Amino acid sequence: MSPGPMAAALSVCWSDAMKLAGCPLCESVGGVLILEAPQYRVIRAEEPDFPAFYRVVWTAHVAEWSDLQPKERVNCMEAVAAIERVLREQLAPTKINLAALGNMVPHLHWHVVARFDWDTHFPAPVWAAPARTADPARLANIRHALPGLDAQVRKALQVLASSRSM
Ligand SMILES: [Zn+2]
Repeated sequence: MSPGPMAAALSVCWSDAMKLAGCPLCESVGGVLILEAPQYRVIRAEEPDFPAFYRVVWTAHVAEWSDLQPKERVNCMEAVAAIERVLREQLAPTKINLAALGNMVPHLHWHVVARFDWDTHFPAPVWAAPARTADPARLANIRHALPGLDAQVRKALQVLASSRSM
């Protein structure tokens, strides 16, 4: 069965959402689970050179942004914006990168990445070839901040969820 708009509009949790066998984002959480909302989950990717790297993963297996209904796109992008705000406030990064590629895993997900002018790839995308070696001390500073950062991201998403239900 192909994922249609009706199925995508259902309020489902990850465990019983529409899944595709063999899809890594259907078959596993895909990172450190920060929050599970009815239509999406937020995870922190475990990328050694980019510690402040979150993903908003749509729950149902759909490949493309235009597979979502307009209200679903708003919900998804509000979550992306909430994460972005926390990263800006907590880390003052050089830039936030937002991306939805899905070439490797065609299950809709948005990348939200804090970028720094000292990181291994800046100013190229995180998927490009590295421009320099990693800076262990600066990376360690961010890694130490991750528990607090995760908590702030979770709190912002919870506020978002409660404002939506009002
Ligand atoms: Zn999937």
